[in-house]
Amino acid sequence: MTTLNSKVPKGPIKDKWTTYKDNINLVNPANKRNIDIIVVGTGLAGGSAAATLAELGYNVKAFAYQDSPRRAHSIAAQGGINAAKNYMGDGDSNYRLFYDTVKGGDYRSREANVHRLAEVSGAIIDQCVAQGVPFARDYGGLLDNRSFGGVLVSRTFYAKGQTGQQLLLGCYSAMNRQIARGKIEMFNRHEMLDVVKVDGKARGIIARDLISGEIERHSAHAVVIATGGYGNVYFLSTNAMGSNATAAWKIHKKGAFFANPCFTQIHPTCIPRSGDYQSKLTLMSESLRNDGRIWVPANMDDAKAIQQGKLKPTAIAEENRDYYLERRYPAFGNLVPRDVASRAAKERCDAGFGVNATGEAVYLDFAAAIQRYGSEKAKVQGLSNPSKEEVVKLGEGVIEAKYGNLFQMYEKIIDENPYKTPMMIYPATHYTMGGVWVDYNLMTTVPGLYCIGEANFSDHGANRLGASALMQGLADGYFVLPYTIGDYLADDIRTGAIPTDSPEFDEVEKSVKDKLDFFINNEGTHSVDYFHKKLGLVMWNKVGMARNEKHLKEAIKEIQDIREDFWKNVKVPGDLNELNPELEKAGRVADFLELGELFAKDALEREESCGGHFREEHITEDGEAKRDDQNYAYVSAWEYTGKPSEAILHKEELEFKDIELKTRSYK
Ligand SMILES: Cc1cc2nc3c(=O)[nH]c(=O)nc-3n(C[C@H](O)[C@H](O)[C@H](O)COP(=O)(O)OP(=O)(O)OC[C@H]3O[C@@H](n4cnc5c(N)ncnc54)[C@H](O)[C@@H]3O)c2cc1C
Repeated sequence: MTTLNSKVPKGPIKDKWTTYKDNINLVNPANKRNIDIIVVGTGLAGGSAAATLAELGYNVKAFAYQDSPRRAHSIAAQGGINAAKNYMGDGDSNYRLFYDTVKGGDYRSREANVHRLAEVSGAIIDQCVAQGVPFARDYGGLLDNRSFGGVLVSRTFYAKGQTGQQLLLGCYSAMNRQIARGKIEMFNRHEMLDVVKVDGKARGIIARDLISGEIERHSAHAVVIATGGYGNVYFLSTNAMGSNATAAWKIHKKGAFFANPCFTQIHPTCIPRSGDYQSKLTLMSESLRNDGRIWVPANMDDAKAIQQGKLKPTAIAEENRDYYLERRYPAFGNLVPRDVASRAAKERCDAGFGVNATGEAVYLDFAAAIQRYGSEKAKVQGLSNPSKEEVVKLGEGVIEAKYGNLFQMYEKIIDENPYKTPMMIYPATHYTMGGVWVDYNLMTTVPGLYCIGEANFSDHGANRLGASALMQGLADGYFVLPYTIGDYLADDIRTGAIPTDSPEFDEVEKSVKDKLDFFINNEGTHSVDYFHKKLGLVMWNKVGMARNEKHLKEAIKEIQDIREDFWKNVKVPGDLNELNPELEKAGRVADFLELGELFAKDALEREESCGGHFREEHITEDGEAKRDDQNYAYVSAWEYTGKPSEAILHKEELEFKDIELKTRSYK
């Protein structure tokens, strides 16, 4: 039986990473040329890893299902990326970033990994600036920072509301240099459908060319999975429609443990759902909470009138508004972490104070910020006695410069001008803290199989702080994996190329082909989306923002039923040997239908509330999450044994030597 060994180096936390790097095995440059590495996924995590590994001299084969790495879901990231540079002089440090992240994750992450993340954060910014990433700058030309939830300093670097896109362009240029040198062989429009193990080690993958439908074998000395998160298990989420868990789930079935599947982030500032035929939800970046104030009507009559379309928010007087985050959490106000903000919005809406027809929305209001910025700007411009209109115009200009593209996006979707009337927002599934279990080296429980970026469980515990995902993905790809993988590959310098004509490749390829054949030939009656939507509803209603034993048990049964129905009645049109998006979706939804069950099982097993995992049985008197450190201060790492219901739980006990375990408070 596999046992968990986190391989955290010994010694004081601040020296662990440095000492570790000083002592691990290295592969000499000439030998790197004889070693192949497969990187599946070329978002920020995989792209940065592929570029760096190739620069080091390894032969990299990189895979993505989009037509270019430029289109990875990372492109959607809006708000920014954290780093402890202390450019604002507000007292930031590596320790503070480490502390904020462990506390933000509600003390369910591995201290050593988080400390390393904080340590390398500054280097990420230097690297990206060197690549030409156009981070926002202040008047004097220095890099600007803004604040994100759960922290009391400004450490978020940003490029307007397009940080992910700009970082990805930097990463893509680094990749392109290696593609041109022949050190990266890029397989766009290829989907990994399974991993191949030889003698217990990951030695290759089976991939489908999504254009021709051809099934291909690819071998390597190590395989890196960087395929993003599994938020689309909810069907509706802020993730790209194609985001999926297939690679992560397939490696789980081949021996990689899956950690904390129930730790999911529901983001508080998304555009509310508008109807049953929607397939995607849109994020309004958390950066907006720097300037937007969140409120609902204080009086039920006003809330009812708004829901019926008889009252406008701008007509509600200041004293009749409930700025509930400022009221409940005066220290952090509108910048409480996401899990706290989401639950508070749900609490107000459940109590009947929601502000749209469905009662599932709260306001995000910029009027005060427009006024504040407008007055400041008028002073700077030397305007004496500016009119109200002049102040508003100047203030709107400042807001537009900071968040213009987000405001434009909102107006396009909702058809209301958010400069003039508050935005409506509601929580939506956004990010998955859970994922493939990895040790300090980012290696899974399968030798030679690594997992980085959102796909692994690593650093965010039970709740991720805003702007930390980009930091983690790029830390993994640029600064951690390139070192740790060498320690493993040092043993492979004499192995030679891995053949693909082995029985191991035959067997996995056959099982992949059999499943694809099944989908095409099944005489079903319902589309893939029909099942995905059903799964999503169960997940949202029973495994969503608030969970309880009864609902979780029902969810497990319902997911099993949907899965059974899926395998009998799914209909996949089109053919095997052509571009067939329905066939692609079928495989992904089949995996979500298994992952969803493990997710609910994990939520059922964790009899505490922590971060994004809120069990209604475990709350404090004032309605906050109640952790149980005595019994649950561990990572749940699940081992697949044939069915999600039979998965075996392994526990990685978490040690808090450098940060005191205490109740999280943002009051
Ligand atoms: C709307 C939105 C805004 C966000 N804003 C921020 C922000 O401001 N700051 C922040 O820190 N975080 C933000 N996040 C989170 C952050 O963007 C993601 O966590 C991060 O970009 C994930 O990067 P990744 O490289 O791990 O995965 P992705 O960027 O999702 O890349 C996955 C890659 O894997 C490939 N792939 C997937 N499956 C397969 C397969 N089976 N075979 C082959 N290839 C495969 C894809 O083609 C792609 O190349 C945001 C998330 C969303 C949804």
